[in-house]
Amino acid sequence: MLEDPQEQEAPVQVCMICEQAGKEGIHILSQFICLECEREIVNTGVDDDLYDYFVERMRALWRDLANREPDLSGPTYS
Ligand SMILES: [Zn+2]
Repeated sequence: MLEDPQEQEAPVQVCMICEQAGKEGIHILSQFICLECEREIVNTGVDDDLYDYFVERMRALWRDLANREPDLSGPTYS
């Protein structure tokens, strides 16, 4: 009998904002943001000093978005 080779080893999720692992959070593309940081981002206004920090940290996320294959069903602008 063959076992399903699927491994149950959960990858360690490191929050892209606070870089802490093992927290609950959300995945956005290949990135992970823990619930605490997600809440922080939501509650941070543009005037807040933290806002720049978050934007900086999330550059990787925007890069991921930009590098994605264009959605064939969506409109493309260039
Ligand atoms: Zn975090």
